[in-house]
Amino acid sequence: MSDSKLTGQQRRELEETLASVEQALNRALLGGEAPPKQWRYTGTCPAGHVLTRDRLRRSRDGGVRRQSCAACAPGFDERFLVTWKRTDEEG
Ligand SMILES: [Zn+2]
Repeated sequence: MSDSKLTGQQRRELEETLASVEQALNRALLGGEAPPKQWRYTGTCPAGHVLTRDRLRRSRDGGVRRQSCAACAPGFDERFLVTWKRTDEEG
């Protein structure tokens, strides 16, 4: 497909679409109108790294599965357990 196959009408529509997309992009990038994504859970490790999740893994007994900070320890390490907190919950 080549641009030369477009009719004048199609070209105008395309240009209008592009213009509106560009405006939306500019608003989002420059205006900062779009709020940052609100994650359901935030976790902090003892060293202060912050993790975000929408869901937490569950352990077999139904509790929150313990997770250590991947930045502090490549594998599971009890010294770097992440403390999870719901962001949409009081306290
Ligand atoms: Zn960490």
